Amino acid sequence: MQDTSGPQGAALLSPSEAAFSAHIPVLVIGGGGTGLTAALAARQGGAEVLVLERDASALGTTAMSTGLIPASGTRLQSEKGIVDSPELFAADIVRKARGQTDEGIALALAQASARTIEWMIDDHQVPLSLVDSFLYPGHSVKRMHGTPNRTGSELMGALSAAIERRGVDVLTEALVTGLFADPADGRVRGARVRRPDGSTEDLSCDALILACCGFAGNAAMVREYIPEIEGATFFGHPGNKGDAIRWGLALGAAVRDIHSYQGHGGLAAGRGIPILWPLIMEGGFQVNVAGERFSNEARGYSEQAVDVVAQPGHVAWDIYDARLHQLMLEFDDYRDAVEARAVLSADSVEALAGLAGIDAAGLVRTVAEVAVLTRDGDTDRHGRRFGGTAVLQAPYYAVKVTGALFHTQGGLVVNAEARVLREDGSALPNLFAGGGAARGISGPSCWGYMAGNGLLTATTFGRLAGEAAARLLAR
Ligand SMILES: Cc1cc2nc3c(=O)[nH]c(=O)nc-3n(C[C@H](O)[C@H](O)[C@H](O)COP(=O)(O)OP(=O)(O)OC[C@H]3O[C@@H](n4cnc5c(N)ncnc54)[C@H](O)[C@@H]3O)c2cc1C
Repeated sequence: MQDTSGPQGAALLSPSEAAFSAHIPVLVIGGGGTGLTAALAARQGGAEVLVLERDASALGTTAMSTGLIPASGTRLQSEKGIVDSPELFAADIVRKARGQTDEGIALALAQASARTIEWMIDDHQVPLSLVDSFLYPGHSVKRMHGTPNRTGSELMGALSAAIERRGVDVLTEALVTGLFADPADGRVRGARVRRPDGSTEDLSCDALILACCGFAGNAAMVREYIPEIEGATFFGHPGNKGDAIRWGLALGAAVRDIHSYQGHGGLAAGRGIPILWPLIMEGGFQVNVAGERFSNEARGYSEQAVDVVAQPGHVAWDIYDARLHQLMLEFDDYRDAVEARAVLSADSVEALAGLAGIDAAGLVRTVAEVAVLTRDGDTDRHGRRFGGTAVLQAPYYAVKVTGALFHTQGGLVVNAEARVLREDGSALPNLFAGGGAARGISGPSCWGYMAGNGLLTATTFGRLAGEAAARLLAR
């Protein structure tokens, strides 16, 4: 893994050291999906708010993502005749996490998710539609919502436009290097910001929202907490160094699921383009260089990262056909992969194996096995149940992929208002967290990540944190 460690935020600074130059009622650290939704909600709640973002633009992991946000009971689902409920959604989340997450938080997020989608559309003109062409692993019904091209950059563009319309300030190139707080009462008084020329500015606040994600961009923390994924490609935001976790711990906050993360078993090797999982869920599969399958790909793309990294050369190939190629063209990422010549195709399995450098006899055997499994609707030795899709037909397609780390899922324990909690369950006086900064709903490891868990906690905790911070100020 590339060492992306850089300057780290200091832990806590004493309020007596501060030279406050301005007072901002609500400070938001981090300008990704969590930060922008939190700022919009706080502003709508009547609070003055400032977003502090270390990069030159507010993008974060969110802009790298596919931008698909799950929600249950939205009017977009009803319009398509999809019957869903927060209870069903929460049950899906908890099942994927093997029961090892906070069921109350999963339900609270599921209950608030429809409002988040409709709030983004109605109040902030974010052009979301329901993704109804396929079902993501783990979800009982279709509940993903995305922008027209299904990209996080489009989502961030729409949120940034909303931020401008609402007159919310985003200070970029503003690295927060420390929080002013007295650990005795846990109240955050402000933040120190470092600018690219090395100068610093101290800003005081009444409430602070941590929206600066997790620690995937901190190689030392990845090595310490999730060594199993160290050999994978890092495909997340390098500016996310674990600052929220370190500040929270210094303030006495509880941290859970520190070993949890979102991996991906389908990053186009050498191209850095995610090949998304509809390809697998609709009948594609993965083989190694011997042409052999090695796991149940349909469990989910996150845990598949570890299985792919364990193959010779840390690589595998997605195998599929023209029907799936057509389906995948819905996604910008896939179109980029075609453009980058990552997608191979041939009229026969043998020719495809030759192009890809896979053992031909092995691949022929595997394609034939999968055809029988698909036709008969059978379950294979890895536990994957085939069927319900067409048998692959010539011409055949392949993309060489590797395993990747996208972002971490462990973090600060929060309640249903996104308030950060101490070990004894009491809330810190004025600290909130969401997205990758907060404990996710994916259990203790990579296998608990269900598609959409990332942006569900980013956008819904973001909105809830902003609303709650504004309410706190109004008291
Ligand atoms: C390729 C890819 C595809 C994905 N697709 C999906 C998807 O379709 N659906 C889904 O639900 N999830 C998806 N995810 C996961 C999702 O992108 C993340 O869960 C989500 O974006 C996290 O949002 P965030 O606001 O917490 O963090 P980010 O978007 O990373 O924002 C954090 C921001 O904080 C800033 N920051 C960090 N430290 C400081 C500091 N000290 N001072 C100032 N600023 C700081 C960073 O620069 C960054 O801009 C995907 C991830 C990847 C990589």
